[in-house]
Amino acid sequence: MKAIKVIEPFKVEIVDIPKPEIEKGDDVIVRITSGGICGSDIGIWNGTNSLATYPRIIGHEFGGIVTEVGNDVTKVKVGDKVAVDPVVSCGHCYACSIGRHNVCTTLEVMGVHRDGGFTEYVIADEKNIHKFNVDFEDSLLGLVEPYTIGVEINNRAQIHKGDKVLIMGSGPIGIAAMQVAKRNGAEVMMTDLVKERLEKAKSMGADETVLVSEENLEDRIAAFTDGEGIPVVIDTVCVPASFEQSVQLACPAGRVVVLGLKNQPSGITMADITKKELTIVGSRLSCNAFDEVIAGFEDGSLTPQELMTKAFNYKDVMDALTMIKEHPQDVLKIVLKFED
Ligand SMILES: [Zn+2]
Ligand SMILES: [Zn+2]
Repeated sequence: MKAIKVIEPFKVEIVDIPKPEIEKGDDVIVRITSGGICGSDIGIWNGTNSLATYPRIIGHEFGGIVTEVGNDVTKVKVGDKVAVDPVVSCGHCYACSIGRHNVCTTLEVMGVHRDGGFTEYVIADEKNIHKFNVDFEDSLLGLVEPYTIGVEINNRAQIHKGDKVLIMGSGPIGIAAMQVAKRNGAEVMMTDLVKERLEKAKSMGADETVLVSEENLEDRIAAFTDGEGIPVVIDTVCVPASFEQSVQLACPAGRVVVLGLKNQPSGITMADITKKELTIVGSRLSCNAFDEVIAGFEDGSLTPQELMTKAFNYKDVMDALTMIKEHPQDVLKIVLKFED
């Protein structure tokens, strides 16, 4: 079967590898129908993803149709449409023992630390497989994972009905988090430097959008919250300055969600946090979020079809990567379809 392999930075090949076979009772084999290309795939391609090792079959956003199951599998059956959680954890470290396997001490993500889902067939444990309850468009099955990032952000920030939320950055993660927050009953303001991205965010449900290159964000927040200040800030821009700004913008007793993986220090002081008694939380990957996303896809509150900018056949992966490289502003999510 075919797979997309990054041999070394900037060297991508479509290779032939053996099709997986059932080995354990809880194994499930999925014929992949679609995969979403993520910023971290781009980072593996161009050598800027510090977590990756080479050569690597990339892809951590993928889904498809079950073709084979081990003897002990009860949750899914052949023919089910499913999304695959790429997070592999040990099950017994402290984080795993309290149900937060997404930050397991020996965490591995398929497509980053081990081979991933940009291939015709994938084998995974039953616990990583999440099924759709209705028939769903094949090309969108790979977009559950990016929305799970949005669920994790909402859970970490404890976003509830009536909350006012500022999301800095209107890329795919910002938009996914926004749609989940709207599903949770929050009101959401989003920022960006690109007008078209804000128009997209608005059309997908954002209550307010702020073009930060032209508008004063603090004034807009004051109007949005009746002068109260913003209780929840989600930083999807992920640079030291945006982290500092998030802490500064959050109102007393506010919550700030951090997603960046950069190793650069920020100029935040203890007093910035203590005076307002802020809750600052990290959010990484996702924890028990797949079924909630699938429910959102099925009830129409989450709209992956609008997140998808374009679909390419997997054989044209270089065209897809080039489009993302040359027109990053115009791309939200590129999907690879695995079909002949
Ligand atoms: Zn991703
Ligand atoms: Zn663990």
